[in-house]
Amino acid sequence: MPKRKSGNIRYEIADDIQARFADIVRTLDLRHIDLDKVVCLRSFGSSARRVIARCHGMSKVLQIAMGIKAFYVLEFISERFDALGDRDQEETIIHELMHIPQNFGGGFRFHDHVTAKNVKLMLEQYHAARR
Ligand SMILES: [Zn+2]
Repeated sequence: MPKRKSGNIRYEIADDIQARFADIVRTLDLRHIDLDKVVCLRSFGSSARRVIARCHGMSKVLQIAMGIKAFYVLEFISERFDALGDRDQEETIIHELMHIPQNFGGGFRFHDHVTAKNVKLMLEQYHAARR
């Protein structure tokens, strides 16, 4: 099957996911995350087969050239993310959130840090803090 052209992907601002993301950040008091500089999007028609979500950053070179600070986009692939239950969706949001490093510099933490175990731990902390 031919690879779908990226032009077929459609993006929408995901206010509902953004609200859940912001609640996690506030509840866990994750001060390194600037809520004004992270946007959650839904994508439709992605050809990525197994990906549920992606974290996009911004390279230093672009930040300097454009004269702007780091910015992150958390992309949730609708066909897969919206098929998940609440808890799996929360895990997915936390997984992408954990890719954002402490310095909020535009780069990423990798999967040595963003592990299933660490994601579950943060999810448990979140649920405990909400009670
Ligand atoms: Zn990841």
